Amino acid sequence: MTQDNCIFCKIARKEIPAKFVGENDLAIAFWDVSPRQPLHILVIPKLHYANVAELTLNDEASLVALMKLGSELAIELADESFRLSFNTGEAAGQTVFHAHGHLTSLTPSGASA
Ligand code: 5GP
Ligand code: ZN
Repeated sequence: MTQDNCIFCKIARKEIPAKFVGENDLAIAFWDVSPRQPLHILVIPKLHYANVAELTLNDEASLVALMKLGSELAIELADESFRLSFNTGEAAGQTVFHAHGHLTSLTPSGASA
């Protein structure tokens, strides 16, 4: 389940470049193209869901994979002091309609954009 015209599907399929930081069977993580915090990584399901609610209600395995990957990276790169947030809907600031968590930290441990 991927969408031809979705930029994050293309990144997940590795058709367009991104600065990858990790993946597991169902999720992938890469740097935000314009980081707004010292650590700013996006964690996405490999399969296409429009937002985190669609993901949660339809694919618990992908949700857990995303949260595991985000948690592992947070422990590794952010000294366990981090935010993992999901803008959902245009009015809440969502601009890419493929579910993604923003893993951000003001105190990264060794990572750089
Ligand atoms: P949203 O506003 O939907 O919550 O977050 C979308 C995020 O995706 C933004 O922070 C934006 O900088 C990032 N973004 C948009 N296009 C690309 C891209 O092609 N590559 C990467 N790595 N990040 C992107
Ligand atoms: Zn997609």
